[in-house]
Amino acid sequence: MPFKLPDLPYKYDALEPVIDARTMEIHHGKHHGTYVTNLNNAVAGKPDLEKMTIEELCRNIEKVPQDIRGAVRNNGGGHYNHSMFWTIMGPKGASAAQPSGKLADAIKSAFGSFDDFKKQFVDAGLKRFGSGWVWLGVQNKKLIITSTPNQDNPLMKGVAETTFEPVMGLDVWEHAYYLKYQNRRADYANAWWDVVKWPEIEARYAKVT
Ligand code: MN
Repeated sequence: MPFKLPDLPYKYDALEPVIDARTMEIHHGKHHGTYVTNLNNAVAGKPDLEKMTIEELCRNIEKVPQDIRGAVRNNGGGHYNHSMFWTIMGPKGASAAQPSGKLADAIKSAFGSFDDFKKQFVDAGLKRFGSGWVWLGVQNKKLIITSTPNQDNPLMKGVAETTFEPVMGLDVWEHAYYLKYQNRRADYANAWWDVVKWPEIEARYAKVT
């Protein structure tokens, strides 16, 4: 099996009270786990796809045979997106509450202030009807905020509405918040900032600029 469910870099309850342990357990073990299983099933017997990294697979989604492209798009996207998501979070108070350095400067330049950035990011997540992700990314050397439906991600050239280098993404599927927040996506998105691990996002930004 070429693709594996990564271990969480912390315990299920590490993001309490922002994200409850039961949600993390189901989200990681069941939702992400199922994407990995389905992705492995989709690429089974196709060595050229089996040897790719998940990032390469997303970037080359147009080259995936049409009969499995939908499965790879949904489950490969799910695997990439969640693998990113777990790493950009950490316990509340464990790292700085705001970005610093070049990322902080770029956010200020693109969005006016850190608070304006947060507001625009949350708004984009609220406007995403149904299931999807909201992203901060780099496109033509500029920071942008946008969202994708389902498990699409901005690496999927020819499939995604727009492509760019993802810096951070927030899962706005109901499965990410329903147990604790029910229908209150705004409460979840606004609370989420408390568990964002800025040093990791600064490192991801440095890699794509
Ligand atoms: Mn999810």
